[in-house]
Amino acid sequence: MFDTQIIPIPILPFGMVNAHLIRSEAVCILVDAGIPGSERRIGKVLANHGLTFRDIKLIVVTHAHTDHAGSAARLRALSGAPILAHEADADYYSRKVPMSYCTTGWVGRLFLRTPAPHEPYEGFVPDIMMRNGETMNLLNFGVDGLVRHTGGHTPGSIAVELASRDALVGDLIASGILIGGLLFKGRAIRPPFEDDPQTVARELERLVQDGAQRFHMGHGGPLEVPEVLRHAWVLASLSGDACASGQCQHDHH
Ligand SMILES: [Zn+2]
Ligand SMILES: [Zn+2]
Repeated sequence: MFDTQIIPIPILPFGMVNAHLIRSEAVCILVDAGIPGSERRIGKVLANHGLTFRDIKLIVVTHAHTDHAGSAARLRALSGAPILAHEADADYYSRKVPMSYCTTGWVGRLFLRTPAPHEPYEGFVPDIMMRNGETMNLLNFGVDGLVRHTGGHTPGSIAVELASRDALVGDLIASGILIGGLLFKGRAIRPPFEDDPQTVARELERLVQDGAQRFHMGHGGPLEVPEVLRHAWVLASLSGDACASGQCQHDHH
């Protein structure tokens, strides 16, 4: 039907933080908005492809962490495009509730000691609010694909699944050393924060069953099916996750 192209937008170098553009015919959809102040970087990538902010017809925010939602309000003002996000993260988007973080290792714990994750971004109310279990068809926005609720990384995490067999999954999976990073980009890792690895494992397997072949992510990537499945099986074998059961030592329960 439509030919879609995935254009990565490096928010930070070496794939440490990515946003993506889905380009189809004359329109495009922005998936994630980067850290606060990313609009110039995103504008540059648009210009490199002969596009302007006004060509963005929809802004999909995969979840409420600052490296994905940080510039969403500003980009909505520049593009006039609506923001699509899931209601389970809505109180974080509006800044009503501070974001919670279940760390998966020392990178996450170290990161939490820096001001970065606590820096407030400009709050917003999504224009299109997905509710539990709802699927959003992107055909109305000129792209052959769906947005589905995954949860797992944060309560309101969502993923874009395209007919081209590309999936844009935010932080459901990451790759490389540290976050993204210089080395081992083909090797899947858990992101520094993750609410519920069992849910993430289930959703990654479902995405593969539904036909996803290339996984585009917020940190590192892209990854293909064998590495995604290997990672899902590792996650599934983690038992009794303290964060998922609300028994962790993190500061949000
Ligand atoms: Zn995240
Ligand atoms: Zn992230």
